[in-house]
Amino acid sequence: MLKKRYLLTPGPTPVPPECLLAMAKPIIHHRTKQFRAYIAEATKGLQEVFQTKNPVITLASSGTGAMESAVCNLLSKDDKVLTVSGGKFGERWAEICKAYGVNVKIIEVEWGKSVDPAVIKSELEVDSEIKAVFTTLCETSTGVKTDIKAIAEMTKNHQAIQVTDAISALGAEEIKMDDWGIDVVVTGSQKGLMMPPGLAFIALSDKAWKLAEVSDLPKYYFNLTKANKSLANSDTPWTPAVNLIIGLVEALNIITSEGIENVLKRHELLAKATREAVKAIGLGLLAPESPSCVVTAVKLPETIDGVELVKKLRDKYDVWVAGGQAQLKGKIIRIAHLGYMNKFDTIVGISALEMALKEIGYEFELGAGIKKAEEILTG
Ligand SMILES: *Cc1c(COP(=O)(O)O)cnc(C)c1O
Repeated sequence: MLKKRYLLTPGPTPVPPECLLAMAKPIIHHRTKQFRAYIAEATKGLQEVFQTKNPVITLASSGTGAMESAVCNLLSKDDKVLTVSGGKFGERWAEICKAYGVNVKIIEVEWGKSVDPAVIKSELEVDSEIKAVFTTLCETSTGVKTDIKAIAEMTKNHQAIQVTDAISALGAEEIKMDDWGIDVVVTGSQKGLMMPPGLAFIALSDKAWKLAEVSDLPKYYFNLTKANKSLANSDTPWTPAVNLIIGLVEALNIITSEGIENVLKRHELLAKATREAVKAIGLGLLAPESPSCVVTAVKLPETIDGVELVKKLRDKYDVWVAGGQAQLKGKIIRIAHLGYMNKFDTIVGISALEMALKEIGYEFELGAGIKKAEEILTG
């Protein structure tokens, strides 16, 4: 059978051919002016996407490495922090903090709901010792978006910094790091930045760099102060992921040529079309109140096994979507509209979903979702 794959997962996401070709070039040595030019160009593009004037540090790791680097470079032993647990990735912040012996207060949020910024406000008001608030711009496990702009309004007038996991959201959701006063933003290469996995990125505000100066948690590979010193000369402390950075320059060119505002509008449109199509098929949304532009979590009726549906979509239709994680396993599927995707990727996803649902006997009008999606996408 002809294999032609459609990758509609919220990471990894499809990689544009320009990037693939750039990465296929023979490797060059990194301690050279030729390679430093790539680092300088990539950093400039990253600053544009992060919307910050401060340096954006590139690490050779998956996104979680940047999360860990935020914790071990900014905090000190016995520091108090707030995390939000409304999904797998919010929980990860708490897990990393605990691994470093940091004092974590967890705000529990129902999976599928977004944290109310007022809750964070009252936590900060009752405890002036809190050093950091860890947030997740898009909680990829549930498709929920967090109002980090509102949270920044509170951390701005408090000693605490806001550290945002924008691993899936950067390049899909609006984030104005400097304007909004977000102190730390982390992301990874394999989501909105349209690259393979393997790179992580982190930017710090001046307020966050002050914490880095006094942080006493152990760190070696992920020492951001060291990385930042090297970056001033377009260099890295350790061997960088040379070909990934060369590919990244192409990806950032694609993003900045389209224009970040247009990139965000495209994601918003595809997200809306996906949500409305899913509703037209008669299925529910896990996060109807605060849906992200990154991924749509589709609630399945009890009669449909989500694990089987994901498998059927992949093995029979070659359309790769994600299933539910942890307590949502089997109960949802997650369709991404993230990165190198256009209207027809969304159409493919909806169409495959309809065909697979029909096949397993779910009752609905074939084409209802596609019709709705086309109406929105032509609007
Ligand atoms: C993908 C993702 C991560 C994890 O990144 P890795 O690259 O797998 O380490 C963390 N947070 C969010 C919100 C994500 O979507």
